[in-house]
Amino acid sequence: MSDHDTPAQAAKKLFIKTYGCQMNVYDSQRMAEAMGAEGYVLTENQSEADMVLLNTCHIREKAAEKLYSDLGRLKPLKAERPDLKIGVAGCVAQAEGEEIVRRMPVVDLVVGPQTYHRLPAMVRGEAPKIITDFPEEDKFDHLPQQRATRRAPAAFLTVQEGCDKFCAFCVVPYTRGAEVSRPVERIMREARDLVARGVREITLLGQNVNGWHGMGEDGREWGFGRLIRALGEAEGLERIRYTTSHPNDMADDLIEAHRDVPQLMPYLHLPVQSGSDRILKAMNRKHTAEQYLRLIDRIRDARPDIMLTSDFIVGFPGETDQDHQDTLRLIEQVDFGTAFSFKYSPRPGTPAYERAEVDGAVADARLQELQALLTRQQKAAQEGMVGRTVGVLLEKQGREAGQMIGKSDYLHSVFVDTTTAQIGDLLQVRIIESASNSLHGKIVSAT
Ligand code: SF4
Repeated sequence: MSDHDTPAQAAKKLFIKTYGCQMNVYDSQRMAEAMGAEGYVLTENQSEADMVLLNTCHIREKAAEKLYSDLGRLKPLKAERPDLKIGVAGCVAQAEGEEIVRRMPVVDLVVGPQTYHRLPAMVRGEAPKIITDFPEEDKFDHLPQQRATRRAPAAFLTVQEGCDKFCAFCVVPYTRGAEVSRPVERIMREARDLVARGVREITLLGQNVNGWHGMGEDGREWGFGRLIRALGEAEGLERIRYTTSHPNDMADDLIEAHRDVPQLMPYLHLPVQSGSDRILKAMNRKHTAEQYLRLIDRIRDARPDIMLTSDFIVGFPGETDQDHQDTLRLIEQVDFGTAFSFKYSPRPGTPAYERAEVDGAVADARLQELQALLTRQQKAAQEGMVGRTVGVLLEKQGREAGQMIGKSDYLHSVFVDTTTAQIGDLLQVRIIESASNSLHGKIVSAT
């Protein structure tokens, strides 16, 4: 039995609630594995858990308040079972630190996103109950190897963490720290390990994933495009995606990888946030709308069928009607496959926090207008898939018998009629119908 096997008689149950982005989903998985080495198995049922871990996100509004109300709901469970351990991880843990235990004494431990490799020692009582520093060491060096269990066909792999960009509205540089890239050799090892366990699609994660750089296996400095080329040569890895990117880090070698690496899917999430140069400057995005548009041209030259998605913040402090119109114009010019849009809300500790806000009703009306345009584009992009044959990686059974659900090359959910295909099959599927949030297709052939 290895150090990381779980003795059946000692199995305790761990319930993890994950908020926020894919990086948190990945972190929760790694924390579960770290706790697996301590004899914990995951449960989906909070009431039977020996430990409840809330892996928090600080991006959305009132993140801390949401955490405190979730913790309030855990109080009766802790009163019933004083042995229950309650932990808070992630970006709110990082931002609030000791305040969490002060306000909610039911909490046994608080661990930031850069230190969760110490979670097992904290649970054993061999480390402080609050750890939110930014250590020199790489947490990934201290986490147990992922255990040799079968995995779902699509997996996340964190390659980069933190951010040095300091956009005026964003807490990430303060909660996740400075940009750090994981070494090539460890990324390649983890990718091969995932493939050996049944993974066929990997999404590379990072707050600024395309800012990744590192010393390559050939002794040279690699950029993110070179890393993708190396992953494209990994036997059995059929699909590569990455998120989230900054426009200023879309280097030539990455754009060329979109042209040259067939495993790199024709889908790119490239946040722009606004189409107004004035607002982009106030946001500290360090590029103009025109530079973004020219970048999109170059990406589309390299990969004409690429589907582009983005993020928009509406009602950023100082935004005028003209700025809003500029954003709508940029959206018209790019024609996005889908996009995420939010009304600006101030985050304590960020440069924009003290700035005068746009009137709420005005911002609401702008958001509605912008979302209506994005919804039209999304619908058109989805309907444009009908009649096309696309790759679909099957991920789960459908609701109805004889149906499975997978993701297309362009990340659409696709219902596929089949009684013989298996989860993990990568098929060529002809799209016959577009519904509100999904497509329906018939199998043409296995890829
Ligand atoms: S680049 Fe992204 S993560 Fe970094 S500060 Fe800007 S919005 Fe936040």
